Amino acid sequence: MAEQEIAKPVDQDPLSQSPLNQLPRRVFDGFGLHNRGLSHFLVPRSADELSALFRRASELETTVCFRGNGRSYGDAAINPGGLILDMRHFNKVLAWDPETGVIDTEPGLTIQELWQHSLPHGWWPPVVPGTSFPTLGGCLSMNIHGKNHFKMGGIGDHVQEIDVVTPAGAQLTLSRQSRPDLFHAFISGFGMLGAITRVRIQLKRVYGGHLRVAQWAVPDLRAQLEAFQDAERSDYFVSWVDCIGAGAAGRGQIHRASYTQEGEDPLGMASMSVQGQSLPKTMMGVPMPLVPLVLKLFYSSNFGVGITNEVKYRASEFGSTSDFYQSHAAFHFLLDQMPGFRNAYEPGGFLQFQPFVPAEHAEHVFSEILRVSKSRGLVSYLGVLKRYRPDEFLLSHALDGYSMALDYPITRANRVPLWAMLHELAELVLEAGGKFYPAKDCLLKPAHFRRAFGQEAISTFRTLRTECDPNRILRTAWASRVGVDEPE
Ligand SMILES: Cc1cc2nc3c(=O)[nH]c(=O)nc-3n(C[C@H](O)[C@H](O)[C@H](O)COP(=O)(O)OP(=O)(O)OC[C@H]3O[C@@H](n4cnc5c(N)ncnc54)[C@H](O)[C@@H]3O)c2cc1C
Repeated sequence: MAEQEIAKPVDQDPLSQSPLNQLPRRVFDGFGLHNRGLSHFLVPRSADELSALFRRASELETTVCFRGNGRSYGDAAINPGGLILDMRHFNKVLAWDPETGVIDTEPGLTIQELWQHSLPHGWWPPVVPGTSFPTLGGCLSMNIHGKNHFKMGGIGDHVQEIDVVTPAGAQLTLSRQSRPDLFHAFISGFGMLGAITRVRIQLKRVYGGHLRVAQWAVPDLRAQLEAFQDAERSDYFVSWVDCIGAGAAGRGQIHRASYTQEGEDPLGMASMSVQGQSLPKTMMGVPMPLVPLVLKLFYSSNFGVGITNEVKYRASEFGSTSDFYQSHAAFHFLLDQMPGFRNAYEPGGFLQFQPFVPAEHAEHVFSEILRVSKSRGLVSYLGVLKRYRPDEFLLSHALDGYSMALDYPITRANRVPLWAMLHELAELVLEAGGKFYPAKDCLLKPAHFRRAFGQEAISTFRTLRTECDPNRILRTAWASRVGVDEPE
C-alpha cells in the first residue's frame, strides 16, 4: 500500500488567514473507509506555530484534531467540520545514539522511517503494529501494541520522555519523573490533551535482520488458547482465526517468532540493511500486487471468504512447523505489501471490532462472538488473536488477557443488523471485564466507554483535560461519539 502523500505546509502564515474557512479543506477518512469527514487542514511546522494555532482556534471557537498517517480504522483521527493538524511534517530525527539505541525524534516520523534509521546499527523498534506506516505521534497517542505485548507491553513502556504543547499554552517535557500523571495520560490519551512534539524512545538490540519463525495449524479456539500458554518462550506470538469455515469454530494458524542470537543470522550483517528487509513477492502463489484483486473477487460474499479460509487452513495443515528465517519487516508488515488491500471492502468499507478480554473469560467470550456472528450470517472475514499484560497508562486498553481483532465488511444491507449485533457483543465483553481499543473502534457508545475504561480513570483524565485544554478545542469524532467530555 502506498503511503499517503504528505500535504505541503501552507506557505502563508496560516494565522493571517482569517476566517479559518478560507483554509484548504478535504475529506479525511478512517482506514476502514467507513468513517469520513470534510475538514479544513493545516500542516504546522513548529511548537510555537502550534501554540499560536491553538490560541487562534480558541478565539474562533474551532475544534482541532491531530492527524498522523490516518491509520486508525474508525473515527479517531477525523474531525468533520473542524480543523485537522497534519503532524507529518514534524519528521526529523533529532538525536541518535547507536551505542545505547536511544533515539529522539519528532512525532511525524513513521515506524518505517524509524526502523530504516536504526536497523543498520542493530536496533529495532521494541513494539510495532501490523503496518509500518503509522507515525510515532499516532502510535503513542494510542499506545499501540504488537505481537509481543505479553512480553514487551505497549510502545509507551519504552518511551523515556516526550515534549508536548497544550492548548492552554504550556510547552512541557514529560517523563516518569517529571509530571508522571500527564506522561501516563498523554500516552494513550488519543490526542485529547495536546500535541506530542518530541519522543525519546529506547529501541531493542537485535543481532540479525531475521527472526526465527514457526507456524502451525490449530483445530479450534481452545487449542489456540492452549498454544498461547507457551507464548513466553517466544518473542512474538500471534494467530490467525478462521471465523467462517465449516470446521470447528476458531480453527486457525499460530505464528511464533524469536530474535536470532549473535552470529546466528544466515545473512549476517547484510540482513540488517534496508534492502535485506524485502517483503514477500507472493501470497499463496499470487503476486502481491494482484492479491487485492483476488481478495475483491472472494471478499464479495461470505461464501468466497469461506473458500479462501478453507484453502488457507488446509495449506497451514501441511505447512512445516520447523523453524525458518523471515525478515523483521516480512514478519510484521505483510499487509504493507498489498497495495490497496482495504479496497477489497469497497464500496461500504469495513470495521474492526477488537475486544480485549481477561484470560479467564477469553474462551467463553470469543466462542460466543464467533457463534453469534455465524448464526446471524454477519461473519468476520479476518480474525487475529494476541496476548497482553496490564500496563501503567491511564486510559489503557491493555489487560491480563487476549484480544481478538475481527474485520467485518460493511454493506448497505448489513449496516443496521451489524451494529445491533456488535453492540450486543460489546455488552458480553464488558460483563466479562473487557475493554476496547480507540484506534479500532467505530461503534461504542458513552456507556460502553465508561465501563471499559472505568469512571475513576475517566474523571482523572477530564481533570487533566481541564488543565491542558480548558476551552475544549481538541476534538475527534471518536471522542465526541464516546462522550469523553460528557458528565457521567
Ligand atoms: C493494517 C493496519 C494494521 C494495524 N495493526 C495494529 C497493531 O497490530 N497494533 C496496534 O496497536 N495498532 C494497529 N493498527 C492501528 C494503528 O497502529 C493506530 O491506529 C495508530 O494510532 C495509527 O497511527 P497514525 O500515525 O496513522 O495516527 P492517526 O490514525 O492519524 O491518529 C491516531 C491518534 O493519534 C493522534 N495523534 C496523531 N499524531 C499526534 C501527535 N503528534 N500528538 C498528539 N496526538 C496525535 C490523533 O489525534 C488520533 O487520536 C493498525 C492499522 C492498520 C491500518
